[in-house]
Amino acid sequence: MRQPGPLTTRAFATLPSSSALAEAGGAGGSSLLQSLVAQEQSLQSLFRGEWPTAEPPEFVLSRPALRPSACDVDVDVAVCGGTLGILVGCALQLRGHRVAVVEAGPLRGRAQDWNTSQEELRRLVSAGLLTEEELHRVAPLRFGPMRCKFGATPASELQLRGVLDVAVSPTALLEAVSARFKAAGGLVLENSPVREVRIHPDGAALALGQGGAGQGRTLHSRLVVDAMGHRSPLALQARRGQRPDGVCVQVGSCARGAWARQWRGRGDFFVTEDDAQYCGPRRCARAQLFWQSFPSSGGEEERSTYLFTYLRPGCREVSWSLLGLLELMEEYWSRLPAYQRCGEADEVALRRILFGWFPTYRSNSPLKPAFDRVLSVGDASAVQSPISFGGFCAMLRHLPRYSRGIDAALRQETPRPRQPLGRPRPISSRRYPLSSADRRVRTASPAPSSPGSRPTSPTWARHGCRRRR
Ligand SMILES: Cc1cc2nc3c(=O)[nH]c(=O)nc-3n(C[C@H](O)[C@H](O)[C@H](O)COP(=O)(O)OP(=O)(O)OC[C@H]3O[C@@H](n4cnc5c(N)ncnc54)[C@H](O)[C@@H]3O)c2cc1C
Repeated sequence: MRQPGPLTTRAFATLPSSSALAEAGGAGGSSLLQSLVAQEQSLQSLFRGEWPTAEPPEFVLSRPALRPSACDVDVDVAVCGGTLGILVGCALQLRGHRVAVVEAGPLRGRAQDWNTSQEELRRLVSAGLLTEEELHRVAPLRFGPMRCKFGATPASELQLRGVLDVAVSPTALLEAVSARFKAAGGLVLENSPVREVRIHPDGAALALGQGGAGQGRTLHSRLVVDAMGHRSPLALQARRGQRPDGVCVQVGSCARGAWARQWRGRGDFFVTEDDAQYCGPRRCARAQLFWQSFPSSGGEEERSTYLFTYLRPGCREVSWSLLGLLELMEEYWSRLPAYQRCGEADEVALRRILFGWFPTYRSNSPLKPAFDRVLSVGDASAVQSPISFGGFCAMLRHLPRYSRGIDAALRQETPRPRQPLGRPRPISSRRYPLSSADRRVRTASPAPSSPGSRPTSPTWARHGCRRRR
C-alpha cells in the first residue's frame, strides 16, 4: 500500500485542529490525512481495473412492481445527495413541487471556496434561490484578470476576465439555499443514505438508511434526481461497469502568509510552464502538471493553490507506475515555493489541504437516462467539462434548464390512477407546517409552462406530504 511522503506527513501535522471538524461530504470536501489515504486506495483500485466492478450491485430495481403498500413520506421529487442537489431541489420547490433532499451525511458545504464567474452565479438570483444581498454575502470576493499560460515565455500568456474570478463560500451558499428551501416547505433528510430505489409505474420508492432523519423510512416520489456525485451507485449501475477513459487527479491547499499579498487581486486559471515531468513511483510516469491559484475569501494574506494532472488509467500491467494522489501531493509541496514565491515552509501557515480525483468517460457522457423516473445531475451525470471539472460552475449553467425541464415534465405527466394503498403504516395526518414563503408559492400564479399544462394546486392536493410522528 502506498504511504504519504515526508512533505505531506509534515504538512498535515501543521494543520490547525479545527480543520479536522471541517470535513464535508461533497467532492473536495475532505481534509484529513486518512481521507487522502482512502482516496488514494480507491484511485489505485481504478488503476488496477478493480473499480468500477463489472457487475455493480443492484441499487435501482426497475422490475415492474406495484406502488408499495406503505410509505412514510410522499413527494413529487426526491433529490439524492445534497451538495449541489439542494440547488436543483430548491429551484423545483420554488416552482411549486414538493421536494425532499436526502443527504447521506450532514448537509453542509465545504469550507474551501468554490470559484466561478459572476455571470454563472447570477443564475441563482434569477432562479430565486438567493437575493442580491445574499449573493454578496456568499460571494464576497471578486478579482482578476486571470492568467492562462501554456509555456515558459511571456508570449505564451493570456489574461482573461469572466472565468473563475469570483470566490463563493460553499458553507454560506448551502446555508442560505437550505434556509430558502425549508422556508418554501422543502424537506431535508440529513444523515440518511439512500440504500435502494424501486421503480414502479407511477414513481419510485426509496429505502433510507437507519440512524439519521430518514430513520429507515421509505420515501415515495414521482421523480428521483441523482446528485450523489461521480461515485453515485445509481450512475455506476447505469454505466454497467464502464471503465473511465481518463482521470483528473487534483491536490491543493489554502495557506496564509505575507507572501500572498504580492498576488493581490490576481489568479491563475490554467498555468503550465514546463514540459511533461517524470514523477510517480520510481519517477517513470510522465505527467503534464497544471497549476491554479486564487485569492481567498479569507483575506489578502490567504491564497488557494491547486496542482492537477490528467491520467489515462490504461492497462493493469502499468498500474503500478501511474502517478497517484500521494505522489502528486509530494510534487505539490516541493514545487509550491517556486510557483508562488512563498519562501520557507514556516512562512506558509496552512489553513486546509484539499484533494480529489474525477473519472472521465468518452462515451455515454453526459450520462444518458437508464431508468424510468430517474434523472442525473451534477457530477453523477458527468455534465461538467472533462478539462476543468468545475462541477459547481456546470451546475449553475445548467440550473435554469434543469428546473424548466423538470417542472414542465412534472406538470404535463398524465396522472395515473393510484394503486390502492393496502394497509398503510401509521402516519401522522399533520402536514408540514406552511411558512409564509410556502404560502406565497402556493398562491402565486403557476410558473409559465406550455399550453394545456395543469396548474400547480392539484399536484399539491394529490400528493399530501405526510410523515410519521
Ligand atoms: C480540490 C477540489 C477543488 C474544486 N474546486 C471547484 C471550483 O472552484 N469550482 C467548481 O465549479 N468546482 C470545483 N470542484 C468540483 C466540485 O467540488 C464538484 O464538481 C462538486 O462538488 C460536485 O457536486 P455534486 O453534488 O454533483 O457531487 P458531490 O460533491 O460528490 O456530492 C455528492 C453528495 O451526495 C451525497 N451522497 C453520496 N451517496 C449518497 C447516498 N447513498 N444517499 C444520499 N446522499 C449520498 C454525498 O454525501 C455528497 O454530499 C473542486 C473539486 C475538488 C476535488
